[in-house]
Amino acid sequence: MPMKTPSIAGKLLRSFLKGLAWLLLGLLILMLTVLLPAFFRHFVTFPQLERELRELQLQRRQARRVIPLQDYKGVLHAHSYWSHDSRGVLAEIIPAAQRADIDFIFFTDHPRSDVDCFPRSYNGMYDGVLIIPGAEKLRLLVWPLDTLCINWRANRDTLIRGLVQRGGLVFYAHSEKAHDWGNSDFQGMEIYNIHTDIKDEVMWKLLPDLIVNKGRFHRWIYRRIFDEQRTILALWDSLNTHRRVVGISANDAHNNQNIRARRLSDGLVEWVGPNADTWRIGKPAWWQQWLFSEPDTSGWIFKWEIDPYFESFRFVNTHILADTLSPASLAHHLKGGHAFIAFESLAPADGFQFYATADDQVAAIMGDSLRFRDGLTLHVTSPLPGRIRFLRNGQQISQHDKTYSAGLDVQQPGVYRAEVAIWFNGRWLPWIYANPVHIFQ
Ligand SMILES: [Zn+2]
Repeated sequence: MPMKTPSIAGKLLRSFLKGLAWLLLGLLILMLTVLLPAFFRHFVTFPQLERELRELQLQRRQARRVIPLQDYKGVLHAHSYWSHDSRGVLAEIIPAAQRADIDFIFFTDHPRSDVDCFPRSYNGMYDGVLIIPGAEKLRLLVWPLDTLCINWRANRDTLIRGLVQRGGLVFYAHSEKAHDWGNSDFQGMEIYNIHTDIKDEVMWKLLPDLIVNKGRFHRWIYRRIFDEQRTILALWDSLNTHRRVVGISANDAHNNQNIRARRLSDGLVEWVGPNADTWRIGKPAWWQQWLFSEPDTSGWIFKWEIDPYFESFRFVNTHILADTLSPASLAHHLKGGHAFIAFESLAPADGFQFYATADDQVAAIMGDSLRFRDGLTLHVTSPLPGRIRFLRNGQQISQHDKTYSAGLDVQQPGVYRAEVAIWFNGRWLPWIYANPVHIFQ
């Protein structure tokens, strides 16, 4: 008997079923490797973290205020509609700032042209939030704090010196990049930048979480990018052995890793993708109507946001110890290093203090310089119990675990700074970095 050859239809059916089996297998693997861990985090890990955070908050204590200055906290390095890569407007910025409980935002918009006149964009007090306009260009963060025009084509060193001499602030942006670290006109540097931190992550890793959680647990999804920027901290320490370089945190907030849509006046819809780029302007397809809702306060009828202002604003803050919430006072005390940074999506650090005493009197606070003498003691008080570490010239010299306060008798000159870590989710997490007290011979 001759073998029966399969028909063409049979062959097609077989290859179709084979393809389907492969597709199902592929989907199963995707489920197992990507979505299952995200579901696990949604149902187990994130609720656990929320519980632990609530318990941690119960341990909050307000210590007696020794430093005779107010503790204002806010954001340095943020972008608004003035930058080519953001669409941020006050209607979304101010509510986000209020929700994050911050007092000020030092904006750093990318200039629109070589001649850049200040003040521009937003400037002043808006519903209790102080906005100070600045620029980010040529790896500089500048806040002129004055009415003036910057010519960005001018000689860079002359430009920096001119700004500083007129009372402006000039800081190093993106400390992971090459800089003229020896230029003593710079007053400070970023010791943590969210954007710098994101660079070593595969952004896709957050997508399953964002899909599974649909707007919930954003705090923890955002925290998944966190790595301590140790190389930058070591660089900061080494620079401070020669001169004062104030450490700040940089939020680099853009609210631009999104997909959003808004109606234009002629019935067309603009779709805006990542980096605030226009994807498409056109008549919406019938099915798109399903996605749209009433415009929000900024006019968006659809939005799917990875980095809304609120999440960036509360992630990390710089606290400035100042007299008043005014540009002059904040700038004066920031230059003086009267500042610390804290990862506030873990817990607000309001009330933290780092200072030196001699003969029971406050002799210096973070950022200050003073001459070495016998009887100098450094003090840290923390609003939550944590691991308090004292460092001298970048080297740890003492560590105190699960405590609200710690002291250190100063034996020799040096640059002394303090850190606090909190025990969370089974490990010590960096929480606060304070600017150093400089003790010279
Ligand atoms: Zn930036």
